[in-house]
Amino acid sequence: MRRRFKCDPKWITARYPARCAEPNCQTEINPGERAFYYPGDKALYGDRCGHGEKAERDFTAHRIDEDGY
Ligand SMILES: [Zn+2]
Repeated sequence: MRRRFKCDPKWITARYPARCAEPNCQTEINPGERAFYYPGDKALYGDRCGHGEKAERDFTAHRIDEDGY
């Protein structure tokens, strides 16, 4: 499973209502709330539910693995 990131995922402030992209979560993300955004997947992960932090950690770990090669 290889992924290329055209743009790195990053923390954004939601400008419109959305839901956490974690399938079992679906926590609402309200405008003005922080969310972790994957531009490639157009996926938003919530901050309140903790999936934003998790997505950020996963991405950072992945990044470190790739840099190792
Ligand atoms: Zn979530």
